[in-house]
Amino acid sequence: MELNDVIKELKKLKAKRVFIQFPLGLKNDKIQKISRTLDDEGIDAVLCIESTYGACDIRDVEAKRLECDAILHVGHVDFGTSSELPVVYWEYFIDSDPVSVLEKEFEKLDGYEKIGLVGSLQYMDKIPEVKEYLEKRGKKVFVAQVEGVKYPGQILGCRLKSGKEIEDKVDAFLCVSAAKFYGLGLILNTNKPMLTLDVERKEITDIAFEKKRIQKIIAWNKSAFKDAKRVGILVSFKKGQMILPYSIKNYLAKKLNKETYILAGDEITQEKIMGLKLDFLVSTLCPRVGTDDTERFEIPMLNFDQIAKIKS
Ligand code: SF4
Repeated sequence: MELNDVIKELKKLKAKRVFIQFPLGLKNDKIQKISRTLDDEGIDAVLCIESTYGACDIRDVEAKRLECDAILHVGHVDFGTSSELPVVYWEYFIDSDPVSVLEKEFEKLDGYEKIGLVGSLQYMDKIPEVKEYLEKRGKKVFVAQVEGVKYPGQILGCRLKSGKEIEDKVDAFLCVSAAKFYGLGLILNTNKPMLTLDVERKEITDIAFEKKRIQKIIAWNKSAFKDAKRVGILVSFKKGQMILPYSIKNYLAKKLNKETYILAGDEITQEKIMGLKLDFLVSTLCPRVGTDDTERFEIPMLNFDQIAKIKS
């Protein structure tokens, strides 16, 4: 979808004011250009400068307060988060050349004949080219189209079915994205090697070392949980992440004898919990926060499902 198509969609909705949520990477001239173009089309644009990491975060309440009549969610696809306002999702593919990276780094795929191809949304338009190139160089390539996911091979930070579905058929995964976030999510949940094709750094990297590092942190945090007395349960205001924490509180307090505190916020950071006397954090936020994103907090943290598996 191009900006013209987005404008058509907004006009179909008769939107006069649109609330725009976008990834931080677009906070530059690009997002201002989009805002100016909408203004020129007679649609007032409100740029939401709070961070938006995914389609789990729909700010319909804030948009309504600003009397907007639609939300434009840039860089994400719909996965069913409810909204009181209509939402136009704009994938926003990024101009990139993963095949040139493959040409340069192809030997890093040596030893892997069957490749499971996955990637993040912004590079989904390049998946067919990458597949064709790999096949031309003799690889057998698997790309899964799964229900509820828009593009073949697409994985999200918290939706990994397009990878898991083909795990048994492949020797390794190749993940087309920027940085290692998406590849890491899949490798932490499967048992096959993961090579990330980073279109920005223009390199292919085997991230097995990173999986081991995260697994060690999780194991250490599990043992720290046993001795923790004061536990903060983190709950997000983000619509697609929010769960009611009361049964978790009950489990921790009654069954495990912990002193518990429910801590609710928008984006929860170390600064926001500073000053509270806590030994441990149990996250009900985005599943990645309590898995591979725990190090930005000064006290140990785990997701609730990891806690529930700890044998007392
Ligand atoms: S829950 Fe986390 S991984 Fe899933 S879309 Fe939201 S921010 Fe991304």
